[in-house]
Amino acid sequence: QGRVVDDEEGGVLFLSGSHSSSSSSYGYASIEKQRQRLPVYKYRTAILYLVETHATTIVVGETGSGKTTQIPQYLKEAGWAAGGRLIACTQPRRLAVQTVASRVAEEMGVKLGDEVGYTIRFEDVTKPDVTVLKFLTDGVLLREMMDDPLLTKYSVIMVDEAHERSISTDILLGLLKKIQRRRPELRLIISSATIEAKSMSDFFRMRKKRREPENEEHGLEVEPAILSVEGRGFNVQINYAEEPVPDYVQAAVSTVLLIHEREPTGDVLLFLTGQDDIDAAVQLLSDEVQTNGKQSSGLIVLPLYSGLSRAEQELVFSPTPRGKRKVVISTNIAETSLTLEGVVYVVDSGFSKQRFYNPISDIENLVVAPISKASARQRAGRAGRVRPGKCYRLYTEEYFLKHMSNEGIPEIQRSNMVSCVIQLKALGIDNILGFDWPASPSPEAMIRALEILYSLGVLDDDAKLTSPTGFQVAEIPLDPMVSKMIIASSELGCSQEIITIAAVLSVQSIWISGRGMQKESDEAKLRFAAAEGDHVTFLNIYKGFHQSGKSSQWCHKNYINYHAMRKVLEVRDQLKRIAQRIGLVLKSCDGDMQAVRKAVCAGFFANACHLEAYSHNGMYKTLRGSQEVYIHPSSVLFRVNPKWVIYNSLVSTDRQYMRNVITIDPSWLLEAAPHFYQLLKPDSLH
Ligand code: ADP
Ligand code: MG
Repeated sequence: QGRVVDDEEGGVLFLSGSHSSSSSSYGYASIEKQRQRLPVYKYRTAILYLVETHATTIVVGETGSGKTTQIPQYLKEAGWAAGGRLIACTQPRRLAVQTVASRVAEEMGVKLGDEVGYTIRFEDVTKPDVTVLKFLTDGVLLREMMDDPLLTKYSVIMVDEAHERSISTDILLGLLKKIQRRRPELRLIISSATIEAKSMSDFFRMRKKRREPENEEHGLEVEPAILSVEGRGFNVQINYAEEPVPDYVQAAVSTVLLIHEREPTGDVLLFLTGQDDIDAAVQLLSDEVQTNGKQSSGLIVLPLYSGLSRAEQELVFSPTPRGKRKVVISTNIAETSLTLEGVVYVVDSGFSKQRFYNPISDIENLVVAPISKASARQRAGRAGRVRPGKCYRLYTEEYFLKHMSNEGIPEIQRSNMVSCVIQLKALGIDNILGFDWPASPSPEAMIRALEILYSLGVLDDDAKLTSPTGFQVAEIPLDPMVSKMIIASSELGCSQEIITIAAVLSVQSIWISGRGMQKESDEAKLRFAAAEGDHVTFLNIYKGFHQSGKSSQWCHKNYINYHAMRKVLEVRDQLKRIAQRIGLVLKSCDGDMQAVRKAVCAGFFANACHLEAYSHNGMYKTLRGSQEVYIHPSSVLFRVNPKWVIYNSLVSTDRQYMRNVITIDPSWLLEAAPHFYQLLKPDSLH
């Protein structure tokens, strides 16, 4: 293991060493042995030394090398959790937080929630004074700053998966840099799967100001250390599609079947984009297994996305039985956040769901978009963990070379900034445009965010949080529009109903979906459908679920996802507690749906649309930006096409579709947001 000080890097300490790739860590090796086989183990001493001597340490290492599961344990073993201090490890994804925490608890032989715990929004599995290793989303850590701005209980904070550049990671990095100036004893570890370390290092370099000698006093290096964990996996042979594929779900399924037919044993990891196409692919493959028994016997098909129950999530990590082949169909989560052992074949659709925001039209939506070359390489890398593997790209080589971008765009540059602005304001950061971002958001997006927050009554003329509304909205861990809806419901006397709606909107989908079930599921939906729209339909479902005694059979019968409904109950409980804490009145409107619709309008007025007068195909235009939008087929208002509606979110496929839609009276818009709609003449609202 050599240590090289690379002068050209400006004194950056660069450690490298060769790693003979971990032999198949399958089998019965003790957990301790398995831990020692991980590439990161060789760097244990080096990492601890760097953390001891540097304010910031950047660790770069291939997925699966042990960064996430091992480094927090090393820190604990070295005493960083002594004296009631905590070690934090953040992740951009909730599912990763849960599975990683559960794995680390298992490795340490402790019960999850005791020494090792995790916190995600609406779920806190930690014990005060007991938990010392805490896994959490970067969003939750941001929220913790509202109560403890300097994060004083943490000795080390590891910001993991920094290469993902999620919006919360970027805000967190900006704030941690500020905290470091006030708390020089705090140690940061930034870990990443790709070598973008130089720019992170530049970001965290502490400028030596004349009047700022604290860090030298602490004897800490001001220059971030960069450590690269060498753990290259085995070779992966790349295969491209010969021609562009028209339907990537179908193409993916055929490819998996072909692999199963022709290739020796080894698990398959298929990257699709989200619950919809993953469920569809699971269905197609399962059908194949049923009808075409012989060739496809021995296939175990498992989905992996964040809406799954814990038991379903755990399944993907269980060892594949001898003679079988596991096929895991996953979102981006398996790209770098989670490691699946035993994968030898990767099928890459070339797409992922990404957030895009256009500040001009003020439209944000989740789009199935092409991934970057960097992502494609990461995906392929998953095939080389245990032995040489193969990656099947469902796009052509020419497409890869000529059309895929090198790197993804940081999320902060393609998101609506409303949540971000309010969080920074709540943390007392007033000059948001001057904030030290790892990557700057666009000024247009900032201005849009300020404008909408002003219209929501969250910011005043001086762009300060209003009291109480602004502070209340900031306290609720939801999108500010949802939070405002909840606050308005308190005055409108329908907070019980609105809290239920907010809880349903916070889970991915309460419907069971999948190809071949559409008809039954649509029929089930009709049983609950309300003329007012989806939000009221949710209330009907919630009521039915309650009356059934929260029965799973009832859910099954109605094509409703039982697991999602349990989650709704949990979230609802938490929202109730938060509402009470911030002084809202909990009240039911006893069937007065006008109150409910007005409350939705008070939060979501910016998403108002009206049906185009001469449209025969259900085309709507957004009121503010005149963008063409359509009601999503999953909405109970699909084909009903009421004149005035408000949507909760947009999804974009061939068109922009509104998801979760409710009817409104246009006069409520002027009431809810006179400033926002001041340019609309009352006579245009007919
Ligand atoms: P990194 O963060 O560097 O990508 P991890 O620390 O997540 O790596 O994973 C290290 C190793 O731990 C993996 O290669 C895998 O062998 C094992 N591992 C991680 N999570 C699990 C899990 N949930 N179940 C079984 N093994 C796991
Ligand atoms: Mg990791």
